Amino acid sequence: MSQDDLKGLITANSFSGMPSFFRRHTGTDFSLADVVVYGLPFDLGTSNRPGSRFGPRAIREASLQLAWGEVWPWGFDPFDRLSVLDAGDIEYTYADQDGFAQAAFQQAKTIAEAGAVPFSLGGDHSVTYSSLTGVRQVCGPVALLHFDAHTDTSKGPIEQHGTMFRHAADDGDILAENSIQIGIRTAYLKDDAYMRLHAPDAMAMAPGDMADLIVDRVSDTPCYLTFDIDCLDPGFAPGTGTPIPGGLSTLHVLNVIRALGPHVANGNIKIMGLDLVEVAPCYDHAQMTSLAAAQIAQEMLCMLAAGR
Ligand code: MN
Ligand code: MN
Repeated sequence: MSQDDLKGLITANSFSGMPSFFRRHTGTDFSLADVVVYGLPFDLGTSNRPGSRFGPRAIREASLQLAWGEVWPWGFDPFDRLSVLDAGDIEYTYADQDGFAQAAFQQAKTIAEAGAVPFSLGGDHSVTYSSLTGVRQVCGPVALLHFDAHTDTSKGPIEQHGTMFRHAADDGDILAENSIQIGIRTAYLKDDAYMRLHAPDAMAMAPGDMADLIVDRVSDTPCYLTFDIDCLDPGFAPGTGTPIPGGLSTLHVLNVIRALGPHVANGNIKIMGLDLVEVAPCYDHAQMTSLAAAQIAQEMLCMLAAGR
C-alpha cells in the first residue's frame, strides 16, 4: 500500500460495510500516514456515569454518515489532502488500568515517532494523560488547548478523569502558562498558571477573536488539542458521563475550529496530537452526541489539512 492509497474516498452506502473511522483504511504501518486515528475504549477513570468505553465505536459509526466528500464550508475533502489511517482500538485486559495506560502511552509515542499525528478517540478523559505523555516524549513539553466543562485539575489520584492536567502540569509535561481551557463552568481556580475561558465568555467571544487568543497563548510551543464532548451544552451532546448545562453550542465550537484553520496553515500553531473524549452513547439520543463528535473530528482534520 502506498501513501496515496490512504487518500481519497472509499465509497459505500452509509448504512453498510465495515465501520472504520470515515471509511479509512485500517492498519498499523504508521510511516504511510499523516494522521493515525485509534480508539481508547476505557472508562474506569469516570467519576459519575460510565459508558465512554463505547465512544470510539459510536463515533466511527456516526462518521459513516459524514464520509462522502467535500466538507462545508472548507471546500475540500480532508482525506484528499491527508493520509489518515484507522489503527483500530487499543487492546488491553479489561480492568487492568496500568496495562491500559502503558499500551495507550506506547501507541501515541510510536505514532509520533513515525512522524504522524496521533488522534485518539476516548474513552473517559483520563486517557488523555497517556496520549499526551506519549506525544511529549517525541516533541517535548506541550501547550494544552483544552475544550471542556471541567478543568480536570483537581487534586487526587492520576487515574481519575478529573485530575490529570494538574499532574501533567506539575510534572512539566504541560506548560500551563501556554495553555488555555475553554468552556469551563464548574470552578474558578486561581492556584495555577492555566488560562480559563469560562463558558459564558467563550460563547460571547467571536470565533476569530478566540482563535487569535489561542494562537497568542500557545505561541511557538508544540500544541496538544484535547476535546471533552461535555464542553458542549447537554442540549447538543447529552451522551456523556458528566454533563453540565450551560455550555457551548456545536456551531460555535465548529466556527472556532474553522477560524483556527488559517493559523494552522500559516504555521502559527503546531498541533502535535489530538483527541476527542467522553462520548458515552448509552445516554445519547438520535446519535446527536456521536454525530457532533464525528463532525468536530472531521473539521479538526480539515483544520490540519488547511494549507496543504
Ligand atoms: Mn474532561
Ligand atoms: Mn468534562
